[in-house]
Amino acid sequence: MARYNIAVLPGDGIGKEIVTEGIKVLKAVEEKFPGLKLDYTEYEASAGLYARTGVAIPDEVYEQCAKADAIYFGAMGLPGIRLPDGTEVAGEIIFKLRFGLDLYAGVRPIKLYPGVNYPLKDRKPGSIDYVILRENVEGLYASRGAGTNLRDEVSTDTIIITRKGTEKIVKYAFELAKRRNGSPLDGKSRVTCVDKSNVLRSYAFFRKVYDDVAQNYPEIEKDYAYIDAMTLWQVQRPEFYDVVVTENMFGDIISDLGAGTVGSMGMAPSGDVGDEHGLFQPSHGSAPTIAGKGIANPLAAILSGSMMLDWLGRRHNDDAAIKAADCIEQAVTKVLEIDKIMTSDIGGEATTAQVGDAVAERIASGK
Ligand code: ATP
Repeated sequence: MARYNIAVLPGDGIGKEIVTEGIKVLKAVEEKFPGLKLDYTEYEASAGLYARTGVAIPDEVYEQCAKADAIYFGAMGLPGIRLPDGTEVAGEIIFKLRFGLDLYAGVRPIKLYPGVNYPLKDRKPGSIDYVILRENVEGLYASRGAGTNLRDEVSTDTIIITRKGTEKIVKYAFELAKRRNGSPLDGKSRVTCVDKSNVLRSYAFFRKVYDDVAQNYPEIEKDYAYIDAMTLWQVQRPEFYDVVVTENMFGDIISDLGAGTVGSMGMAPSGDVGDEHGLFQPSHGSAPTIAGKGIANPLAAILSGSMMLDWLGRRHNDDAAIKAADCIEQAVTKVLEIDKIMTSDIGGEATTAQVGDAVAERIASGK
């Protein structure tokens, strides 16, 4: 029987509320799949902790995260709590984990589920179904904490693109495309390279490395988009996309845009994964304006839990974990399509806990 240690970091704002529902659903699949056992240990790392103690993530918490089989993460950061350089505390935690554990791939599925209120006209469920792969440990954000501010007159941050780092994320993108069913538009497996190679050398290099890696995958269609055009196409023809690979900051931006096209940040799960470690969290932040009201959408957190099981299952050749991941996704689809239980951000009236209960009940009933 497979047994996994999960380090749980609820964080700030709505983090605690959504993680509670995510664990409720994970416990429901544990009941359903007796071969699967998850042991959860909760740790504090948050902007709130920083405000109290001056430390956002204690060393021992980082060490426990490094030892865990996977990290289940809520949301970090509060706008009013800042580091002396003016940046948000959330970066202290998430970047420490991403860089320290080499979580180089930000995996961000963008999927339109049935029954959800979404802003684009006349799209069918499933007509938007692509995955953004955000390079997570290089790019512009690699300069975090190391930019310059010269006499309050000039400020710089340097973008970092390496061949090794780009090869890793682009290879991840092509390998993922091999496992998927292709684009909703034409069923073709396609990897789109998003950059600004018409203006900056660093992005031209990113594209060159993409081309080099793509040679090993002749069966997968190559595709290119400049970042500005990409934001247009994500709105105008999202059904064209299958897998999208891009630099760190661009990935940060287009994953929020993608989440908007499928209804809400609350519908956007993510995994930050490397060769040895995986951290799973909703793509959204701590949403302090809705925290404590019981109205946050827990589905991004619940679907991140499904991604965690899928990742654990593939890593450990554990069929029960892979099936449990799929079971969560099916249950979410039924809750939205048939039960029509959803929070207000996607057109419903349910509370955070009611959505979590509904998904857990669907899993328990097996229907
Ligand atoms: P960060 O920079 O930390 O990612 P952000 O500035 O992108 O944070 P979010 O906290 O993600 O901000 O919130 C963006 C918007 O989406 C806000 O209006 C917020 O209320 C809404 N939102 C985010 N998550 C959810 C959720 N789970 N359910 C409902 N609304 C959400």
